[in-house]
Amino acid sequence: MVEDDDGIAEPLTDGLRREGFDVQRVATGAAALAVTDADLVLLDLGLPDIDGYAVCQQIRARSAVPILVISARGAEVDRVVGLELGADDYLVKPFGLRELVARIRAVLRRYGGAGLGVEVDPVQQLGDLVVDRRARRVHVEGVEVALSPKEFDLLALLAEDPGAVVSRQQILDEVWDPHWYGPTKTVDVHVASLRKKLGHPEWIETVRRVGLRLGPTSSPTSAPAVLRPPGDGSEPSAPAGQIETGRTDRTELAGGVGRIGDP
Ligand code: CA
Repeated sequence: MVEDDDGIAEPLTDGLRREGFDVQRVATGAAALAVTDADLVLLDLGLPDIDGYAVCQQIRARSAVPILVISARGAEVDRVVGLELGADDYLVKPFGLRELVARIRAVLRRYGGAGLGVEVDPVQQLGDLVVDRRARRVHVEGVEVALSPKEFDLLALLAEDPGAVVSRQQILDEVWDPHWYGPTKTVDVHVASLRKKLGHPEWIETVRRVGLRLGPTSSPTSAPAVLRPPGDGSEPSAPAGQIETGRTDRTELAGGVGRIGDP
């Protein structure tokens, strides 16, 4: 973490450590350029010695380490310059810790998972569902199911913490690009298709106004099989209002834990 402001760096360091990340903080651009073993760089732009953009450019010139800019400069031109100088993502202060953690995980996932604070087994057995992250293969009741890359990423994200609700925005941030401004309906389309392919639409539960979660993935052998017509169990596409609700929930969560960089 390259951040000169103690009022931001200290709560952020504490929060990230609680999330399981190993954090090393420096307060100047020169100190940042002396660090060579980071898995990811959180970079403030307003530094006392070297401008953050120059730091970003110099790190990128010699290393492929993921760089996430955290800055109060929120204009579109600032974001564009940051991304063009090699930053992987750009988060404007103030932001919530949860959003930062989601962005960090998304960036690390795009780099292949090295440095992720949460370790998930490469091969996960969840009842009748097996998710093999290394081979990117999925088996249901011992039979391989062919998923598209996005369907696989979506299932892998839900399987990271079975039973935990993942918001639509989090899904968009982590499975799609964080700069995705397309329709969030695309999530519903992939969820419907994933449910159909798994053959157990009830495994992926919709939590109204919140998001999705992976429910129990064992089929009770004694229970009579329920015949479902094709397409049953897939949720109707969310109306626009519901999509906005996801964002509101996220904002409320962020507000609840305090926003970092808020004056
Ligand atoms: Ca600063």
